Amino acid sequence: MGQVRVRFAPSPTGYLHVGGARTALFNYLFAQQNKGKFVLRIEDTDLARSTEQSVDGILEGMTFLGLEWDEGPTQGGEHGPYFQSQRLDLYQQHADQLVASGRAYHCFCTPEELDEMRKIATSKKQDPKYDGRCRHLTEEKRQAHLQAGRKGILRFKTHSDGATVVNDLIRGKVTFENKQLDDFVIWKSDGMPTYNFAVVVDDALMQISHIIRGEDHLSNTPKQIQIYKALGFQVPEFAHIPMILGPDKSRLSKRHGATSVTQFRDEGYLRQAMVNYLALLGWSYDDAQTLFTYDDLVEKFSLSKVSKNPAVFDIKKLQWMNGVYIREMDLDHLYQIVLPLWQNAGFLAADPKESEVNRAKLILGELQSRGKLLTEFEESAYYFYKDQLEYNEKVVRKVLYKEQAIEILTLLLSQMLKVDDFTQTDLEPIFTEAQQKFECKLGDIIQPIRVAVTGTNVSPGIYEVLMLIGRAKSCQRIKDAVEMAKAHFNEVK
Ligand code: GLU
Repeated sequence: MGQVRVRFAPSPTGYLHVGGARTALFNYLFAQQNKGKFVLRIEDTDLARSTEQSVDGILEGMTFLGLEWDEGPTQGGEHGPYFQSQRLDLYQQHADQLVASGRAYHCFCTPEELDEMRKIATSKKQDPKYDGRCRHLTEEKRQAHLQAGRKGILRFKTHSDGATVVNDLIRGKVTFENKQLDDFVIWKSDGMPTYNFAVVVDDALMQISHIIRGEDHLSNTPKQIQIYKALGFQVPEFAHIPMILGPDKSRLSKRHGATSVTQFRDEGYLRQAMVNYLALLGWSYDDAQTLFTYDDLVEKFSLSKVSKNPAVFDIKKLQWMNGVYIREMDLDHLYQIVLPLWQNAGFLAADPKESEVNRAKLILGELQSRGKLLTEFEESAYYFYKDQLEYNEKVVRKVLYKEQAIEILTLLLSQMLKVDDFTQTDLEPIFTEAQQKFECKLGDIIQPIRVAVTGTNVSPGIYEVLMLIGRAKSCQRIKDAVEMAKAHFNEVK
């Protein structure tokens, strides 16, 4: 095998979808493990739908995932340009070559004529195909059309006998009868090449050795193979990867929730979790292993283990995986990721003091094992930072609005104000004594305190929470809770 060169060739007509990202990832892994090159090419020949914003979004999504390309829009490379819109002269040259060799021809059929053709085919229960009538246009007629100002289009003269075999690295031998193909368009009336034509010229000139892409392009492959051959290019290897479906088994789309890579990032997913999860959409190593680092993937990924069956996108599994990576992450690293979120929320200053940083890390250390999404750390940390508590009404009613809760809070408050140090060593005995006094479970003592200081009933360990909130604020909150509960009883009476 010569040098491995693969490419990801998105059309910039939207964001980077998880399906596209998975295609890019498989290409990237394949390039890495074969010491090859990964090319990024922007397929922007659909002028009406392509936008610069979309290009930026795609680059941003790929960068977030760590899918670094060796050649592409930002850094160029020896096979550039990497935007199709800047390669029109190359397509033109190759189209001319096909016309000159008799493998492409001008077609001047009007939309009405094509419509008519379609209707006749349908009435005969045949596939609507172009009937090839312009194949035999005389040079005189062709000139007459051009002189009459009709631009026409170019069609490829397809071989209609025999079969085209795609030796797919994932799907095996797939045979297409050539009679199913018609003389498809390679150059449109808007002066642009079609996808099937431009993609071949680009992949050949960019010396792409393996084309790894979504299965939706399998049916285009016989057309492309015929063009490769007509232009005298070597046909590359093909690998068509399975589609990604939503839980209802229809093709994954916005209806199923977030599908954009940058949206996942903004919702609090980590690169490692995304990459690991995307790798498993259609590929598996063995049943025992689900967690893979990038290095692991580069070592273990193989096209031969990519499934032919569609993959189902399971957001629960992605969330679980994200939680695992958050838990396993080095605290300092997690802090660096969470820092901008907490700064945005006003928890930390732009340039936090060392004491603030230390406290923030202690808080994060307590929350780390509890979050599945980075964004949850904003909600779960707010009571350590904000003065005003947001009470969970239902929990308050259930836990605080009880005579005994008022007694417990009052007793603990008076003792908390007295202890020498506001540390676990000094706090723990207060709780156990109260437990004995009220003859209840320790949880029945802890829970009212927890609700009083956090506003809710789930939090890290109570001693850590109290210590991190600090004596003054904790005691003030307990006092507020007592008053709130008393007020409630007065109202009821
Ligand atoms: N621009 C095409 C797409 O986004 C590329 C298909 C291919 O990889 O050949 O679907």
